Amino acid sequence: MNNRSVKRQCRSNFFLNGEFTEGTSGKAFDVMEPSCNKRLDQVHEASVEDVNQSVEAAEKAYRESWRKTKPAERAAFLRKFAEGIRANLEEISRIESRNVGKPIGDSRWEVNAGAELFDYYAGAVSIFSGENLPVSRPGVDLTFRQPIGVAACIVPWNYPFLMACSKVAPALAAGNSVILKPASYTPLSALKLAEIAHKVVDIPKGVFQVICGPGSTVGNAIVEHPAVGKISFTGETVTGAEILRRSAGRIARVSLELGGKSPNIICQDADVQRAAESSPLAVFGNTGQDCCARSRAFVHADVLDEFVSRFIEATRKTVIGDPLDEKTEIGPLVSPSQRQRSIDYVALGVKEGAKLAYGGEVLSAPGFSDGNYMTPAILVDVKNSMRVAQEEIFGPVLCVIPYKDEEAMIQEVNDCRYGLSGSIWTRDMTRGLRLAQAVESGVLSINCNNSVFNEAPSGVSNRAASGVNAAFMHSKPSPK
Ligand code: NDP
Repeated sequence: MNNRSVKRQCRSNFFLNGEFTEGTSGKAFDVMEPSCNKRLDQVHEASVEDVNQSVEAAEKAYRESWRKTKPAERAAFLRKFAEGIRANLEEISRIESRNVGKPIGDSRWEVNAGAELFDYYAGAVSIFSGENLPVSRPGVDLTFRQPIGVAACIVPWNYPFLMACSKVAPALAAGNSVILKPASYTPLSALKLAEIAHKVVDIPKGVFQVICGPGSTVGNAIVEHPAVGKISFTGETVTGAEILRRSAGRIARVSLELGGKSPNIICQDADVQRAAESSPLAVFGNTGQDCCARSRAFVHADVLDEFVSRFIEATRKTVIGDPLDEKTEIGPLVSPSQRQRSIDYVALGVKEGAKLAYGGEVLSAPGFSDGNYMTPAILVDVKNSMRVAQEEIFGPVLCVIPYKDEEAMIQEVNDCRYGLSGSIWTRDMTRGLRLAQAVESGVLSINCNNSVFNEAPSGVSNRAASGVNAAFMHSKPSPK
């Protein structure tokens, strides 16, 4: 058994106006460990009154201090965040692995990526600039990039620390004060970030706060507060729509990163071995709880059998286990209900006519029975019109959809309400670029599975993608 000794607190406080506090609600909620479904901690829940206080503090800090800081001063604060994160990398990674169920290696990667985000925006802050535009009448037109004021960052449970850093770092860099609301399943790494902000960064009070509690009360109160000028949200599409509605009256600025049902296109000329061997973790990594999961594999009929058998073989070799075990590649799902949802979708797929070629079972062997473990599911003979191929499952379920005709395949790929990410596997770059432009998606990768970079735009999560950011990876082909 891996060492699970961490400082167990009675109840963790949230971070309001420079102080850790239990707030005024008198309530606390349980934070669980998905690998054993035992309580990891309890966190005090903020009241609406606490939210109002935090927004007032954020507004005051913005007006009186933060907006007046020079870019280089803000950059220095951001670098201290990065230093503090790196100095606590192991502790944060363990917190994240225990709280989310994420393999420890993945957590380390994410925490380090969080530090890189602070470093990146510490550099970017000096080059954010406006423009000097030629105008048709005498005079000069100058545009300025100004902070908005109070920015609310509302994050989900699947990548809690990385999502938090990806929102907090740019918002602070631009001169906004920030209120971070973590998901109620996974508030612990955000509270660690608050501790770093307090002890290492010495952030002026009110500039950065972490407020915990349910979306239905705390989230709503933040979203509806008239002084919150910007809302950056990642989560479910339905919640995103609700946030838009609730903030529409005052015309707040809202950025939404929502769901995905991303394609993995395997062309007839693909390096099938490489595609098949690298793709399991592109859909089952983070136990499939990933908005960019390549959960619909469109595979050309000529290579279908080879791809499916190699994919199953590669999946069989992935290590499912304790998130704190160094060898683990796939951990438990975040909650019993999230696992049940995946199991139900597998059953639905079979009912709709798909064939279960591998997995899709609750793991009940010793070591697994207390946690939310399941084997990744591979459904073949799937039709794109089936619900299992259209709805975001957010669990380890792959749908394999065969195709023969490229045009018809593109239509099917685009016949989906989501358009966030995806991959194309081909040895023909002309084909790769043609498909990359035809697929309606925010980001796409060719011959690799990663298309998210600090330096590049990402996160278009509906079909209104205005441009494609394609990533390429050059690496050795697999040996034949
Ligand atoms: P939710 O939308 O339920 O929750 C996300 C966050 O919003 C949580 O902090 C939640 O708080 C909060 N929230 C819930 N309701 C409200 C509300 N009415 N007002 C304000 N805040 C609210 O999503 P999940 O946490 O379940 O995350 C999983 C979903 O996120 C997936 O379905 C996936 O589609 C999406 N996702 C998208 C990503 C992307 O980049 N596009 C990345 C990651 C996930 P609480 O936890 O307290 O309910």
